[in-house]
Amino acid sequence: MSKQVRSLIDKLDRDKTLSKAEWVTVFDNWDEDDRAYAAGLAREISQSVFGNKIYIRGIVEFSNVCKNDCLYCGIRRSNTNAQRYRLTDEEILHCCDEGYEYGFRTFVLQSGEDYAVYTPERMAGIVRSIKAAHPDCAVTLSLGELERDALALLREAGADRYLLRHETADKEHYQKLHPAGMSFEHRMNCLHDLKDLGYQTGAGIMVGSPYQTGECLAEDMLFFAEFRPEMIGIGPFLPHKDTPFRDMPKGSCELTLLLLSLCRIMLPDLLLPATTALGTIRPDGREQGVLHGANVIMPNLSPSAVRKKYLLYDNKICTEDSTGECRFCLQNRMKSIGYEIEITRGDHR
Ligand code: SAH
Repeated sequence: MSKQVRSLIDKLDRDKTLSKAEWVTVFDNWDEDDRAYAAGLAREISQSVFGNKIYIRGIVEFSNVCKNDCLYCGIRRSNTNAQRYRLTDEEILHCCDEGYEYGFRTFVLQSGEDYAVYTPERMAGIVRSIKAAHPDCAVTLSLGELERDALALLREAGADRYLLRHETADKEHYQKLHPAGMSFEHRMNCLHDLKDLGYQTGAGIMVGSPYQTGECLAEDMLFFAEFRPEMIGIGPFLPHKDTPFRDMPKGSCELTLLLLSLCRIMLPDLLLPATTALGTIRPDGREQGVLHGANVIMPNLSPSAVRKKYLLYDNKICTEDSTGECRFCLQNRMKSIGYEIEITRGDHR
């Protein structure tokens, strides 16, 4: 075990902050013993804040049509092999109704940037319908970089939360992951708009995305410390065969787990999912995520006919399963490590 890294993990636990140089030291020097040490602290913290309860959110991936061309993403515009689909308003509502029966009290609507068809007005109508049918539920949106007036309209319609991973807090790194037309500043501004409008806001990164360095990760941790998102989404980068990054190595499962623990230690009441990508890179990835401090799981509620089409990366898990199968599989997985699913909105406190 690196004594230096261990003492920095203790310092993070005590002060809830590290300097950029200290973060770089952690990311350049950590080993498996340090990861286990951080996991122990993180698990203790999440147990003291949330007990052995895990929150679930049902995701409806309602369209894989996207105007963007992110180099890592399987549903990027240039991927002509992707079979595109769009759900109707009725289909989206039906997914939520079914999810409600299975105990979901948060619905996450996610899609590509398909704004010409799913206009802000149409999305506001969908949010209102979900809220009318299920007033005891939270609605989370993950629609990409909408403008402030659209985000305000959706907030007024009743949306509670918004997930928009910043992807990387290092501008030069951002530019290596995105085509020239996309802007680091625009994405960051959008995150600030979300906070300002009163959304519980989620940022996040892919671990091991191409060209990521210890310094990039240090910038990400500094950004989290300053922005204080209510939610942080962290999963490993996984290549997709029809993208320019097809031959890039996948991210490290262990580093992903270490980052989950460091986020939990830094922000004790954070809503922190054990992501589908983590479950894809390793069969017990989501259980390991929980054992490293995660307290949220986000299974899919999409209709089985479209599940195999929302492929951001290769080999995504659960594309053959139904909502009910995923729900009970997860319940058993959580039980096997001593945790229980809680039927609640699971808001940030
Ligand atoms: N259009 C929305 C949703 C994007 S998909 C938006 O822009 O926010 C949700 C997340 O999946 C992305 O933010 C990205 O971090 C992640 N993702 C995309 N491609 C991936 C890949 N190849 N491996 C791992 N995660 C990926």
